[in-house]
Amino acid sequence: MQYCPKCEIRILGRKTCCPLCQGELSGEPENHVYPPMKKNRMSGVSFYRIIHFVFIVLEIIFGAIGLLRGFSGWITLGMIITLLVWLDFWLVFYYRNNFLKLFSIEVYLAMLVCLFVDYRWTGLRWSFEWMIPSAFLFLTVFTAVIAAIMHLKLEDYVIYVLWNAICCCLQIPPVLLGLNRTPYPAVIVTAGVLIYTAAILIFKTNSVRRASGKWLHL
Ligand SMILES: [Zn+2]
Repeated sequence: MQYCPKCEIRILGRKTCCPLCQGELSGEPENHVYPPMKKNRMSGVSFYRIIHFVFIVLEIIFGAIGLLRGFSGWITLGMIITLLVWLDFWLVFYYRNNFLKLFSIEVYLAMLVCLFVDYRWTGLRWSFEWMIPSAFLFLTVFTAVIAAIMHLKLEDYVIYVLWNAICCCLQIPPVLLGLNRTPYPAVIVTAGVLIYTAAILIFKTNSVRRASGKWLHL
């Protein structure tokens, strides 16, 4: 054990000088009290930077090929897919500790992608009619299931329920405008989501009030 004659203290482990007076120590040093930490070969930050770099390089390569050979269908698709995967990487990185938020954003992102693909290649047929109603049904049911599995209090996830209900209502204008030629799924899912939300607003008023206080800082 090492010893500082000036401070008259004994010191555990292996020190080059006294931690109090910085003076010389006598006695034999021992092994380290705590095992030395292994250094990560690649830190989180550099991994994060490498991923961003790879995506930027991919976009530049697609852009360069596009400029030389023309922006054909697969070049544009490649650029869009790379951009989406990159965006998704950001989302997962930022919301990795909030599974419900991450899950909701992913579903909305998938809806937007399907809407774009449907608009671009099939002329808005299956997205309004089947895909978006199914996505809202899935989102509402799974929000409740995830909340139950994670033992979340209603006030912690009611904001997602309200937000989903508001977004679900956006399916109604296409029905009114006659853009949705098979309106049954959209109307039935919207009605179901609104009934579920109304039940929460009316029967769980206290939770909703606490949540709104938290969100609006009332
Ligand atoms: Zn000392």
